[in-house]
Amino acid sequence: MQGFATLGRSLMVAALLFLSGIVHGQVVRTADADVRGFRAGDFPRVTQLAENVYAYEDLMGELGTSFAFTTNSLIVVTNQGVLVADAQGSVPKTRRMIEEIGKLTSQPIRYVVICADHMDHIAGNSAFPAGVTFVAHPTSKAVIERAAARLAQNGSAPIPVPQETVADKRTITLGGTEMQILFLGRAHTGGDLQVYLPKQNLLFMSEVFFNRLYPSVGGTKSARPIEWIETIKRAEALNAQIVVPGHGFVDSQPVLKEELVAFRRSLENLVAESRRLHDAKVPVEAASRSINLGEFQYWYRAVNNVPDAIAQVYLEIDGKLN
Ligand SMILES: [Zn+2]
Repeated sequence: MQGFATLGRSLMVAALLFLSGIVHGQVVRTADADVRGFRAGDFPRVTQLAENVYAYEDLMGELGTSFAFTTNSLIVVTNQGVLVADAQGSVPKTRRMIEEIGKLTSQPIRYVVICADHMDHIAGNSAFPAGVTFVAHPTSKAVIERAAARLAQNGSAPIPVPQETVADKRTITLGGTEMQILFLGRAHTGGDLQVYLPKQNLLFMSEVFFNRLYPSVGGTKSARPIEWIETIKRAEALNAQIVVPGHGFVDSQPVLKEELVAFRRSLENLVAESRRLHDAKVPVEAASRSINLGEFQYWYRAVNNVPDAIAQVYLEIDGKLN
């Protein structure tokens, strides 16, 4: 249990990290919490991004495993309630996040925007209090309806089905804070939403952007790597001053701005190389032994994620992803 003093201190440290963009050579560029030297007690981390706007990071898996990376949520506090974008991967983890939000404000959570419909961002959603409005893309709503039906059968924690959907764009204003929920194209889940705060010039990108974590197609193989690149370009065109990844550390903004470009380039490399192998008629099963990932081969989870990623590009080239 993290005391208020500790939270205060970690907020201060986080604020310092955030402001110290000029010394951004300091951080080791990886999503791997073990390499960064973190301990389990260092999580969750709450980072202030702007006045009343916070990033929340908790570990996806355990340290010492190949899942030692963070899953990130956005918290926007207003005097008419709180908006959360993406939750965490289990009821205890989401409960912990709600507890931490309670230390930031006494305002109730009004909206939860499901930017990514994968379990690591929604499995804890039943922890939110009654009265919360869940918002998702129609594609994600359908995914969640199916998941909820499946879970109801095996007695797992239920997952609330979103009451509202955003297919393109919706603006929510709470206490004078404008928040735009945007669908800028398919990327990792197919229902990828992002949250843009115009006044703060801040874009929470959810699973459209991982910080130094190799692109994954997801357990349900929902990603579309070729379209994903275009979606990132549309996000880049917003020219947000503050960008927030859905996975990987919430580093200083100069680092994150660079890493967003690097992440797009990792997808461009994946697609170009997969296309080369596809055109050379290299069987998909053999392609991961010939692909030239260049600098991206060392990214966290590249070894784990590359085979499925190549297979997905092959399917996308062949028009076999709806
Ligand atoms: Zn995820």
